[in-house]
Amino acid sequence: MNILVCLKQTFDTEEKIVVENGSIKEDGVRFVINPYDEYAVEEAIRLKEEHGGEVTVISVGPERTEEALLTALAMGADSAVLASDEELFGDEYTAAKVLAAIIEDREYDIILGGNQAVDDGSSQVAVRLAEELNIPHISTVTELKVDGDAVTGHRDAEGDEEIVTAKLPVVVTAQQGLNDPRYPSLIGIRKAKKKPMDRLTAADLGLSKDDIAAKTAVTETYLPKPKEGGKILSGELSDQVNELVDALKNVEKVLD
Ligand SMILES: Cc1cc2nc3c(=O)[nH]c(=O)nc-3n(C[C@H](O)[C@H](O)[C@H](O)COP(=O)(O)OP(=O)(O)OC[C@H]3O[C@@H](n4cnc5c(N)ncnc54)[C@H](O)[C@@H]3O)c2cc1C
Repeated sequence: MNILVCLKQTFDTEEKIVVENGSIKEDGVRFVINPYDEYAVEEAIRLKEEHGGEVTVISVGPERTEEALLTALAMGADSAVLASDEELFGDEYTAAKVLAAIIEDREYDIILGGNQAVDDGSSQVAVRLAEELNIPHISTVTELKVDGDAVTGHRDAEGDEEIVTAKLPVVVTAQQGLNDPRYPSLIGIRKAKKKPMDRLTAADLGLSKDDIAAKTAVTETYLPKPKEGGKILSGELSDQVNELVDALKNVEKVLD
């Protein structure tokens, strides 16, 4: 079974976000595999262990992304592809187009990704990729079964569960709870450096700037206002309700 995993390197969720000159500062920040993509890598390795085959991890990102790919190789993926050409960077539309161009000429049975990236949080890239490749997708999966070419995914539908079936080839995105990602072993880390890592540019993929130009633009980046302390109302219940409704209308202005 040929298993592909789309993997994004993101800020460590423990990092403090600092906005400077309208953009998020990256100096000294620790980057990790997008946590949802770690579930995707783990699931891919489990599918390989069950059905045989190969796992290839694919990323579009700057040179530092190599570190995240090496971690996935150390976990047990077989090879990696890194498209680190700045011409290939844009929005979710761009990322899906570039991933599709990388994947189109490869043999694949299943493509795994995270249900969202913890930095942009759009939940769009993997689903757009399925559209680009004209294959089905099952997103936000907490349980996955592949039997022959039949795929069953249990989806987290914001608290409820949906069971969706499809046929290979399919794109599946991982939700927390799908599995417990393994830590790379020492031997795995040593082996990772010897595994193949292809590097691709826009020219290699035959993509022009116009083909993949972003459809969206960020106009402003700012941190949310710090939270202020809450207010505890006291007195008769009817007085508290009146005070609350008055505050919602005249202070917070969320009611007319
Ligand atoms: C259940 C849910 C409810 C939401 N509700 C709201 C809401 O009410 N209001 C709101 O404003 N927002 C909401 N959001 C968040 C909203 O979806 C996000 O703002 C945002 O759109 C997240 O998408 P994303 O593009 O970062 O994820 P993506 O970037 O699409 O990431 C998904 C996956 O694509 C792959 N991928 C992405 N980039 C790359 C790359 N460069 N290289 C390789 N692989 C890559 C990875 O596998 C990644 O895990 C919600 C999100 C979810 C999941």
